Amino acid sequence: MPKRDIKVNGIILKKVPFRETSIVMDVFTDELGKISIIAKGIRKEKDKNTGLIEILNELELVLYKNPNSELYILKSANLIKAHLFDSNFKCNILMNASVEIYRQLIIPNEDSGKMYELLSKYLEYIKTIELHGIAIFWRFLLRVFVLLGIDFNITNCVICHTSKNLIAYYPHKHGFICNECYRPAFENFVLKMSNEQSELFSNLNHIGKLLKKIELSKATISQVNKIFLTHLSEHFHQKFHLKSLELY
Ligand SMILES: [Zn+2]
Repeated sequence: MPKRDIKVNGIILKKVPFRETSIVMDVFTDELGKISIIAKGIRKEKDKNTGLIEILNELELVLYKNPNSELYILKSANLIKAHLFDSNFKCNILMNASVEIYRQLIIPNEDSGKMYELLSKYLEYIKTIELHGIAIFWRFLLRVFVLLGIDFNITNCVICHTSKNLIAYYPHKHGFICNECYRPAFENFVLKMSNEQSELFSNLNHIGKLLKKIELSKATISQVNKIFLTHLSEHFHQKFHLKSLELY
């Protein structure tokens, strides 16, 4: 029986050498979500696809699948975009951060198309940002949260639901609390925010227009990262971390 070809677009999240000449890669695809693909013999010098298998390359893939295995087998690949190519150090970090997030997330198959589009657009856009790219990464995370149905309200208090001065992130309630609802007893359970951090959150959905006006201190960068990662960890009951951002 002839094997049926599967055609998908995918972004390479990870690759590891396998046996003498092969590579196994984790790929985020538009139709199948996250899959593992084996590229047989690809490390042989004469294989025409060798140069295509790089982290963050976006490819048009032709695959087939052995029904007895979880692995897809690469038949051929065409390069759509090499996202890491020609981007600077900080931009590389912010691209790798998005890859780390996608590697750790559990993404339902029905969301994979939208999640793919979001990642692909982010990788294109982040290259064009010269200042405070990390704020664009945070906005990307907000959009990931919306697509996965785990968004948090960045303008309203999770207790009184009004838009007041938000002063802390409250992990158990998956949201922010205002200065009126805050109690000293919360002290050990919340992540407090400075005015700068609170204002940043309230502007995050349209932060692209404000990049030249904002200032981001080290304390803000670290606290905002912490809030995002805590939100993810609380929802998925697993620890999220971003090694790439330690270099930012
Ligand atoms: Zn409140």
